[in-house]
Amino acid sequence: AQPMIYAITPTYARPVQKAELIRLCHTFLLVPNFHWIVVEDAAEPTDLVTNLLKRCGVVYTQLKALTPPEMKLKPRDPNWRYPRGVWQRNEALTWIRNNVPVSREGVVYFADDDNTYSLELFQDLRSTKAVSVFPVALVGGVLLEKPEVSPDGRVIGFNALWEPQRPYPIDMAGFAVNLQLILAKSEAKFSLEVKRGYLESEFIGHLISGREELEAKADLCTKVLVWHTRAEAIKTTGENIRKRKGLPMTN
Ligand code: UDP
Ligand code: MN
Repeated sequence: AQPMIYAITPTYARPVQKAELIRLCHTFLLVPNFHWIVVEDAAEPTDLVTNLLKRCGVVYTQLKALTPPEMKLKPRDPNWRYPRGVWQRNEALTWIRNNVPVSREGVVYFADDDNTYSLELFQDLRSTKAVSVFPVALVGGVLLEKPEVSPDGRVIGFNALWEPQRPYPIDMAGFAVNLQLILAKSEAKFSLEVKRGYLESEFIGHLISGREELEAKADLCTKVLVWHTRAEAIKTTGENIRKRKGLPMTN
């Protein structure tokens, strides 16, 4: 059988949550040998996510890990104030380490709930031997962030403009990790103690010892297979007006 893909998705309650998860569900339904690990940023599993996953048809595990309130972004905070999804991704890594047999062949990928994933991405990821990298569109203040690859296929640099001095200047969506490596390097977790923007670099640093170990996917990083899309913050001010006026939902 081909290696299993374990996709880790942190998710939190907001007006677009169900729409985002339905979108992902419909993509992932088309991916063979796929296990979706959904980690709710909530004290308890919610009915919305529970029911959605039950109906979706993708093999899944539902987990929860609440971000401590003092680390949670307030509506007016700039989004760089705290890293997002950290507790949730770590919860999923712990679950994998406690539940997936070492004999299993697989690949772990961090699939945030708002990105857009091409099916080809998963075909490509599946052969990851250690850590693979690939371009991510619409991120870091540019149209495309991508590893630079030599003609013989080695990763020789990165085109990132934002914090390019990072050891691995790539987005969460721009790399995948072999399952055996995740199981072997049990100290590899996402840390809050890192400088802003260094979440990915610090994590990958636990797994490999240098850029020369990276594998270039997506046709030697010439193809865009994942987009760092984001839903705009939806305005629901009409709902307050509705409440104040005592209007029914049918109005
Ligand atoms: N997320 C979360 N709790 C939060 C904010 C975000 O679990 O309080 C999740 C979110 O659903 C997504 C991931 O963490 O899967 C990254 O968050 P976001 O997409 O907002 O970050 P960005 O892409 O803007 O860096
Ligand atoms: Mn996002």
